[in-house]
Amino acid sequence: MALRINDSEFYAIDAHSHLGRRKTPLGHGVASFLGEDLVRNLDEAGLDCAVAFPLGASYTDYSEANQIMAEEMAKFPKRIISFCRINPNFGPEATAKALDHCLGTLKLRGIKLHPEIEFFDPNEAELMEPIYDAARRYHVPIIFHTGMSSKASPGVIAELAAQHKDVPVILGHMGVSEYVKLAVAVARQNENIFLETSVVGWMPLLLEAFRGVGTSKILFGSDHPYNPLAMEVEKIAKHVTKAAKLKQDDLKKVFADNFLSILKHDR
Ligand SMILES: [Zn+2]
Repeated sequence: MALRINDSEFYAIDAHSHLGRRKTPLGHGVASFLGEDLVRNLDEAGLDCAVAFPLGASYTDYSEANQIMAEEMAKFPKRIISFCRINPNFGPEATAKALDHCLGTLKLRGIKLHPEIEFFDPNEAELMEPIYDAARRYHVPIIFHTGMSSKASPGVIAELAAQHKDVPVILGHMGVSEYVKLAVAVARQNENIFLETSVVGWMPLLLEAFRGVGTSKILFGSDHPYNPLAMEVEKIAKHVTKAAKLKQDDLKKVFADNFLSILKHDR
């Protein structure tokens, strides 16, 4: 499996996808999407591997969903890197316990947080400290949903991320639209903050990010199955590559090496 861009082949990782089951389809119509579905779609798109976390759900501590993430990663260890999803509103003690279980026992490889769906403030130290603490102890990154709401502003996230320089923090969707400039600014200011490409769809903003922070701090992501993999791959592999004049080395970094170095900084 390899991604072909301009006659070269690249090992390619999607840094943002979702897996899980819901009783009824929500939002984008996805009720069940599991490892075999993801791997089939990765094959179709020419991608080697995907980082996956639970689908968003109404009020839950994600314990069942996180168990599914471990099971699906065990079925496809070379294709799926599972992160846990945490709802900080259950309180610092519950968060610390859940993270010890997810990162220690289930060996999940990172933490996904969604400030809007889970409705918390990512600069609220009491709720967030156990999360940064677990990320540091288990040497895993945190990925935040960013954009579409002031709760998920890169500026608010950066307040605590800046105090935890040893924890890699990925800004999922790099702010989507009106928060992209802020995402670029905080990624420039903080060595541990990275940008992920899914969902943002206006070329001038994408180019501002690629030019503003450079290809060493950008990770390819799709937000599959909400967005089609092929659409998100083409956005970067074809259109950004052409407009930003990306070279082989840049594409290697964006499609795999940056994410691999974030994972490795630790293990
Ligand atoms: Zn997502």
